[in-house]
Amino acid sequence: MLIDTHCHLDMDAFDTDREDVIKRARASGVEYMITIGSDMKGSLGAVELAGRYDSIFASIGIHPHDASSFNQGSVQAIKELAQRPRVVAIGETGLDYHYMHSPGDIQIQVFKQHICIARELSLPLIVHSRDAAADTLDILRSEAKGTRGVLHCFSGDSDMAKKVMEMGFFISIAGTVTFKNAKMIKEVAAIIPDEYLMLETDAPYLSPEPMRGKRNEPSFVLHTARAIADIRGVTVEDIARITTVNAIRLFHIGELPEQGEIAYKIRQSLYLNVTNRCTNRCGFCVRFHTDYVKGHNLRLGHEPAAEELIHAIGNPCEYREIVFCGYGEPFLRLDVIKEVAAWIKQNGGRVRINTNGHGNMIHGRNILPELSGLVDSLSISLDADDREKYERICAPSFKDAFEGVLDFIKEAKRYVPQIVVTVVDLPDVDIQKCRRIADELGVSLRVRHLDAVG
Ligand code: SF4
Repeated sequence: MLIDTHCHLDMDAFDTDREDVIKRARASGVEYMITIGSDMKGSLGAVELAGRYDSIFASIGIHPHDASSFNQGSVQAIKELAQRPRVVAIGETGLDYHYMHSPGDIQIQVFKQHICIARELSLPLIVHSRDAAADTLDILRSEAKGTRGVLHCFSGDSDMAKKVMEMGFFISIAGTVTFKNAKMIKEVAAIIPDEYLMLETDAPYLSPEPMRGKRNEPSFVLHTARAIADIRGVTVEDIARITTVNAIRLFHIGELPEQGEIAYKIRQSLYLNVTNRCTNRCGFCVRFHTDYVKGHNLRLGHEPAAEELIHAIGNPCEYREIVFCGYGEPFLRLDVIKEVAAWIKQNGGRVRINTNGHGNMIHGRNILPELSGLVDSLSISLDADDREKYERICAPSFKDAFEGVLDFIKEAKRYVPQIVVTVVDLPDVDIQKCRRIADELGVSLRVRHLDAVG
């Protein structure tokens, strides 16, 4: 399922085949489209389309190009239209200093008025910003506190992306990311954390490759999803799930899963979510600020029994590997791991466990011989280059935990064929020193990027 969060289906470009365009979108897996008003006529058209099709929602606003047409009557008109059914946002609004079709000072005033309306109606804001990064950031900072929204068809650099995300705004990527020379947006598409990423077409404009030159339409969003999946090293299915969850969270269209998943697919692997408990409290841990990883809800209602996990796996050979992971420390459930891992091995699957390396401290004995023959690979979080940093970053519940993790790594090599230690690239962690520790232990090191989870 995909959501095109920004298209202009009211526009003349669709007059001859609008019905077919909507049908093609649905046939391509685009469940919902948000059609965006860019002037009062377009906003009314958006509301009418949303009233006619279950798959369409509307946003109301006046584009910065048309800011000169805005007057005090516009405020009331936008407010009235915005209260019609299936209106989910205010915009597009913002600043466009590239074309300057309206004077800059007028654009700023009109942008502020839209923000005011969005705040008053508690609707998210859809922001257009082109060659106007500094003013856009200043205005959002001063006027949009408490308002959420999205920077549509993002064209800024990664620094601007970080700043708008800090304000809680999403980043929506359009077909420009598929263009060969679009270096900056490709870089941005690579670094945005999953929980801020959205997809759009901006149809009828900006057709993605390989449709460039043709009129754009919502079904083409799949090409943009493919390009982003390639850049981020995940599947289109992953991008569809991630961006759909984000669009639902921002615009409240569609349903989010209420229950946490016990088995969830990312790329070609299946992950098992066995517990949400952990013996660390890492400052960077995503479970403290979101229920979602790669669009999967991982907040468990209960800890699953071995039979439930086996049932959820189905055929282990369908996956590259089965990974015990989830939102907590898997070795807190050692018996379940052993039972399920034995079943996976008997049925031809490959087993990996992602752990914080506390297994022996949790159980007060050496558990590693018990994993022999059941586990193919262990990924162990080292997370620091010395004891003091480990205490500060991971806040472990055990005394001497850093030394305990090092002992666990040494011992693990005797019973598990592949051991990888991981470290997150936090500013105060000495990656070179971590590499030397890994070399001395005779294991490989993988450096994980902060915010890149799953
Ligand atoms: S060890 Fe993993 S699950 Fe536990 S707090 Fe740290 S990052 Fe989170």
